[in-house]
Amino acid sequence: MELYTNSAEETRKIGFEIGKKAKGGLYCLYGELGAGKTTFAQGFAKGLGITARIVSPTFIIMRSHGKFHHVDLYRIRSIRDVQAIGLEEVLEDLSNVVLIEWAEKIEKHLPKKRTDIRIYYEDFDKRKIVLEEKG
Ligand code: ADP
Ligand code: MG
Repeated sequence: MELYTNSAEETRKIGFEIGKKAKGGLYCLYGELGAGKTTFAQGFAKGLGITARIVSPTFIIMRSHGKFHHVDLYRIRSIRDVQAIGLEEVLEDLSNVVLIEWAEKIEKHLPKKRTDIRIYYEDFDKRKIVLEEKG
């Protein structure tokens, strides 16, 4: 599915709708810096019913809010950094909802069953969002 948004609020709304339906599983966000991954994550968390403020977990890689685990791989150097935070164990529990920013960094290690969300910068306020359910 391919969607276009014309504001951060619209991207949050799409995240919200997907978060609302999420019952567990892996959601992977791809896109350059400033594409809108964290913006999407904010709506997604709200859709899950999480009231905490969602910020980019850039410096700590993973931030957990109950069953929701928000991951940002921007600063990782290798797959070992991901193993160190216990992401594999988190993914084994299928009741967890895991959202990964910069999933391209570990693409070949990702579980086959996942939802890919690619965000492309089109213009100052305009983004293209491509959703694909895999596995
Ligand atoms: P990322 O996590 O991909 O680095 P962020 O979500 O942190 O990106 O930042 C996206 C920036 O782009 C925010 O400042 C946001 O307000 C702005 N923006 C403008 N238009 C959009 C849009 N249509 N969708 C998402 N973000 C947008
Ligand atoms: Mg981000």
